[in-house]
Amino acid sequence: MSIHIPTSLDDALALLHELPRVQLLAGGTDFMVEVNFNKHDVHDVVALRRVTELQQWHHDATTNTVTIGAGVVYAEMEHGELATLFPALAEAARTVGSPQIRAAGTLGGNLGTSSPAGDGLPVLFALDAVVNLASHRGTRSLPIGEFMLGPKRNALAVDELVVSISMKTTTGWQGYAKVGTRNAMVISVASASLVLDTVSGTARIALGSVGPTIIRCTQAEQWLQNQYDISARKELDEAIATEFGLRVSQESRPIDDHRSTAQYRRHAVGVLAKRLLQRGCVQ
Ligand SMILES: Cc1cc2nc3c(=O)[nH]c(=O)nc-3n(C[C@H](O)[C@H](O)[C@H](O)COP(=O)(O)OP(=O)(O)OC[C@H]3O[C@@H](n4cnc5c(N)ncnc54)[C@H](O)[C@@H]3O)c2cc1C
Repeated sequence: MSIHIPTSLDDALALLHELPRVQLLAGGTDFMVEVNFNKHDVHDVVALRRVTELQQWHHDATTNTVTIGAGVVYAEMEHGELATLFPALAEAARTVGSPQIRAAGTLGGNLGTSSPAGDGLPVLFALDAVVNLASHRGTRSLPIGEFMLGPKRNALAVDELVVSISMKTTTGWQGYAKVGTRNAMVISVASASLVLDTVSGTARIALGSVGPTIIRCTQAEQWLQNQYDISARKELDEAIATEFGLRVSQESRPIDDHRSTAQYRRHAVGVLAKRLLQRGCVQ
């Protein structure tokens, strides 16, 4: 196995172009687990930690857009300015693994793995994120729903990498919650992220671990917008929150597996949706 350590994006893209069957490595918190289980026949590894363009984020206040480099680690999203801009992302980041995993793990790696259980991913869906990709051929940007295609499947070409993720800031409440088999260091059996935008009066909710990929509950979103004035943020009837939870759970597509049953997941994700909405509508 050869390890290549580029220090610029151009050098990383050149390596991806030149080397056949190359494997990208960011924090290694997914990749090294797979290597340890002999799931990869690894020849050339391109380590991305020293590619400075991937380790940065910036806020363009004129377009209200935040662009987060694929190599920014969860620890940087948990607190500080990024956490203020995207509280839901901060909540999700705080639930990932342990401090050691959060010091190494990245959103680029979460996207590269594209597991429906990835904690960062429902937040990116609820924020309508755009994934910015590059290869030696050029750049392209995909809405997150067109990037993630199925369980551990995405639209990355073999010579491409995720450079960054762009999201508009929103005005209003946003949050993330997950259920697992214990309280910490746990892969979710159901998760949800809710974004209430008081300017556009819209609600966006996305679910993790209850389908082959992340699910946006567009019908439940539309129903809620017809029942409740999100911009006014008046007191929320318990009946509306309960019905919203039920409608969200109906849009989930869970399966039974070693972590949970489909029945429990469907129930749990409805409870999460109801609680998130109630938290978001507290006066
Ligand atoms: C003990 C433990 C606990 C964990 N707990 C959680 C948890 O609670 N929640 C959760 O969501 N995940 C969890 N994980 C999984 C992992 O930490 C996350 O998925 C993390 O986001 C992976 O990021 P990474 O930088 O380590 O990716 P890596 O392991 O380096 O890479 C993962 C995949 O993405 C690809 N990749 C990396 N960067 C890029 C890029 N820029 N462009 C294209 N492809 C890229 C790699 O080639 C690889 O296929 C856990 C892992 C461990 C070991």
